[in-house]
Amino acid sequence: MKITIAGAGAMGCRFGGALYAAGHDVLLLDGWQEHVAAINANGLRIDDAAGSRVVRVPAVNFPADQPAELVVVFAKATQTATVAAAAAAAIGPDTLVLTLQNGLGNIEVLSSYVSEARLLAGTTTLGTELLGPGHIRALGSGETVLGALQLGPSHHAERMGLTLAAAGLPTRVADDVLRVVWAKVAFNCVMNSLCAIASIPVSALARYDGFDALAGSILREVAAVAAAEGVAVDTEAALRLMKAQFDPAASGDHLASTLQDLMNGRPTEIAHLNGAIASRAATHGIDAPANTLITQLIGLLEATWPRRVNRLHPDTQ
Ligand code: NAD
Repeated sequence: MKITIAGAGAMGCRFGGALYAAGHDVLLLDGWQEHVAAINANGLRIDDAAGSRVVRVPAVNFPADQPAELVVVFAKATQTATVAAAAAAAIGPDTLVLTLQNGLGNIEVLSSYVSEARLLAGTTTLGTELLGPGHIRALGSGETVLGALQLGPSHHAERMGLTLAAAGLPTRVADDVLRVVWAKVAFNCVMNSLCAIASIPVSALARYDGFDALAGSILREVAAVAAAEGVAVDTEAALRLMKAQFDPAASGDHLASTLQDLMNGRPTEIAHLNGAIASRAATHGIDAPANTLITQLIGLLEATWPRRVNRLHPDTQ
């Protein structure tokens, strides 16, 4: 299958590399020139528990110049509009578009480039890190869940699910994918934001007795906004899923992506997580003080991170 990966950072390279190794005609499309040049010169290096290998998948800089059968969008949510515009030529009348990105708003942006029947969405819990240009680390195991936006079975979703699974990316097809996307948003609105504000790994949340109350205030607002948009979020199930990550065996010393973004001096996806809950709540006439405050606190961290104090007496060594 001819596949274009639009946004080939950590996850785009992981999926693109696996699909290429499985025999597909894959093209990585990205805007980071050094990264694209490194992949073309030396191949894409993938480290995982089994060791390190090189996949000779081709990469090009934006924009796309020819249609693919499948376009997988893996930009940060903040970049979806820019990446979709730069990848537009890869989306022909018969192209399927798949987003497994985190956050709200990706589906809406991509809907202007592809018909609803050909847009697939979902989530993935596969963790991947970008170690440097042309070099990723694929972490542990995880599952991808995808489906069509229209309720009920979809042969496009079934086919893509089989394609990913055959490439070694365990995948399940969901009949109600918006529910899956919102459940991940609920998870990230709590875990990413709290871990970033406290500067702690996921497992450290287990030490805080007030976690249920804090997570509950965030989750109730997420569920209210989701309900206003016709999607049910099970807050109890969300809380159980989060607590399962407290076990160091499940999350190890994993750092949430919001914290990683702050540490790397890059914009976070907050506007598409708690920020989207706050702004959509306002549209629906729902109060969302917890998500509003969290959005402002992450904004404060983005603006001041380099001046962060890590020692009691910062002027002494
Ligand atoms: P990423 O940050 O690795 O890549 C996104 C873009 O940023 C790419 O275009 C990449 O080239 C560019 N970029 C990265 N580092 C750069 C640098 N130093 N200089 C210039 N450009 C640079 O993003 P990702 O982690 O692959 O995430 C994509 C989407 O998938 C997001 O919505 C994310 O939330 C979601 N997601 C990520 C993971 C994960 O483990 N990484 C897991 C599940 C979902």
